[in-house]
Amino acid sequence: DFLIKAKTDERLSTVPIVVMTASNDMHDEIRSLELGAADYITKPINPEIVKHRISGIIRLRESSSMLRLLKFDTRTGALTKEYFYKSIENELSLNLQKDFDILCFDIVNFKLINEKYGTQKSDELLKHIYNAQIKIFGNEILCGRIGSNTFSVLLTHADDYSQEKFKDLADMLYEDAPVNYTIKFGIYKITNKSIPAFSMCDRAVLALNTIKHKYGVYYAEYDDKIRLNMIREQQIIDGMETALKEKQFKVYLQSKHEAQSGKIAGAESLVRWAHPQFGFMPPDEFIPLFEKNGFITKIDEYMIQSVCEMLVDWKKLGIELFPVSVNLSRIDFSRDDLAENIIEIVDKYNIEHKYICFEVTESAYTFDPEKIIKVVSALRSMNFKIEMDDFGSGYSSLNMLNELPIDVLKIDMGFLLKNKKSEIKRKSILEFIINLARWMKIPSLAEGVETKQEAQELKEMGCDYIQGCFYAKPMPQEDFKKFILSM
Ligand code: C2E
Ligand code: CA
Ligand code: CA
Repeated sequence: DFLIKAKTDERLSTVPIVVMTASNDMHDEIRSLELGAADYITKPINPEIVKHRISGIIRLRESSSMLRLLKFDTRTGALTKEYFYKSIENELSLNLQKDFDILCFDIVNFKLINEKYGTQKSDELLKHIYNAQIKIFGNEILCGRIGSNTFSVLLTHADDYSQEKFKDLADMLYEDAPVNYTIKFGIYKITNKSIPAFSMCDRAVLALNTIKHKYGVYYAEYDDKIRLNMIREQQIIDGMETALKEKQFKVYLQSKHEAQSGKIAGAESLVRWAHPQFGFMPPDEFIPLFEKNGFITKIDEYMIQSVCEMLVDWKKLGIELFPVSVNLSRIDFSRDDLAENIIEIVDKYNIEHKYICFEVTESAYTFDPEKIIKVVSALRSMNFKIEMDDFGSGYSSLNMLNELPIDVLKIDMGFLLKNKKSEIKRKSILEFIINLARWMKIPSLAEGVETKQEAQELKEMGCDYIQGCFYAKPMPQEDFKKFILSM
């Protein structure tokens, strides 16, 4: 009776029980062992033997709880990463005819949750997710915690995954959670059973990472494009240093014109990459990567140098100079000596500062306003011009415009077009920004102007400068030189 009760008692069930009896009946011994007794000792007892048997039992129990530790994640109860991977491989080899999918799910911005609510609450959240997941998928399914905030389960293959299904799944996981959070799902349909389990999970996580910051998208499925893309990204990064040394980065230029007269008033430099393997690459393909790894700072320095060299060349040819702008990434502002560094580069070329202009996107201002105001003020005090790029595309605040010393407000027509609700609304936003600039006594420049009609409208609205394919596309330096000489 005791053994039967002890088995169901949560605390007693983990304590080994030794049955000691004067009965010599083999049936009693078998029955005791069946009911979970760790050992069976008959009287009379020899204390030495009892001691040895008990220490043997303790040793066994300790090593099995060590095994448990290796098998289960102590924080959540899910399988540990290693054990999970082993179990997947085991399961796949036992079911060669069956198809499986790997599902991974991950809490978005877990670090922030940790910081905001503390480790105890975050641990509760992890435990909650694990428990909820068991309720949904059942106890039998393999579930591992494969990252600090990533779980994975092995599912029987299905063909009917959909955003709705995963939205429902997310809602179930959100129910009764200790804190609010967002979860995303990634699926790898195991098409290649020969790759190691961790690579399978990696693939599901890769898929998941593509939607980490996409609002309203709940799951993504792995396909080889994702991996190829990653490989390409890595190749781009591998090639960047050589590209800089071998001058594979090219400066393109696009003119800026006075709206009233059409006369050239300036130019913008735009980087291109003549990649030996991938061909001619637009900046959108590599700048985001270089902003992630910081290499953009080197590119922007290179652009400043190249623009200076070009201005020296123009001066020699007797071309009347006008300001040429270089784009600065918000990443450039993370170095404290940005202004000093720029001045040092430009002054090597003996170019008057007023011929160099820097374009800083509006979103950079919102990123670290104090730093940007400091650097921008320093550059302006040295006579460099500053243009605020992409005004109206981010969270423009009037306050920021007020605080920031700038020389030109650039308005992106592309952005306004993309967001056009109606033609009338688009026009009135444009007119509002142009009036605002005028009211603040800052010249306005509209970029991405493609048609005569657009240019005409902007002129009527009082826009000061126009840039865009209507006048000229961005072009290589040599072509640009011919272009300005022909004007
Ligand atoms: P951005 O500074 O807003 O540059 C304007 C973009 O509009 C350029 O794209 C330009 O080629 C394009 N564009 C010019 N005229 C027209 C037009 O009439 N219609 C339309 N729809 N588009 C036009 P691009 O050259 O592909 O550059 C993309 C972005 O990459 C730039 O946007 C800028 O943010 C970044 N970028 C380019 N070069 C550099 C650089 O040297 N350094 C840094 N940090 N960023 C750069
Ligand atoms: Ca720009
Ligand atoms: Ca722009």
